[in-house]
This record gives sequence, structure tokens and C-alpha cells, in this order.
Amino acid sequence: MLFLIFSVLLYFLPTIIARDKPDATAIFLVNLLFGWTIIGWFVALIWACAEQRYAPVRAVLVSSGRFCSQCGRLSPYGAHFCSACDRAV
Ligand SMILES: [Zn+2]
Repeated sequence: MLFLIFSVLLYFLPTIIARDKPDATAIFLVNLLFGWTIIGWFVALIWACAEQRYAPVRAVLVSSGRFCSQCGRLSPYGAHFCSACDRAV
């Protein structure tokens, strides 16, 4: 019984390593579907241990105005009329 638990934990080791990564679902699927081939298990393990290459987004610029529904131009915050077509925004 202990051997079975150890084997399952060893089989899903790449998934356990990658549980906090954004690719955790994909790594789990590779681990589950191709882990029985030794190559698939190593691919999942290397993927799980690989450095994350995505740069985290620290700030997102928020628009400080409203888009005109007629012409699509951005009017400054607080404007009641579009600066391009003079329609109400
Ligand atoms: Zn407009």
C-alpha cells in the first residue's frame, strides 16, 4: 500500500512541483496523459522546473476619459461633449 502511494506521488511529482505556476493545468495534462512514457514524464518535470519567462504585469494604465459612441475618440475625464464631433459622450 505504501509503495502504491509512493508511486502515485512520484508519478505526479511534476504536477506537484508546478502547482503554483500558470501552466499548472497543461503540465498536469502532459503528466497525466504522457507520463507513462518516460519521455513524457521528463518533459513534464523539466517544464515544471523551468523558469517562468512571463514578465508579470505590475501596472495597467486605466483610461481617464470616455470614448465617444459616435466617432470613437477619447474625450478627457469630465467632458460632456466629444471634442471631435461635438456629440454628447
Ligand atoms: Zn465623437
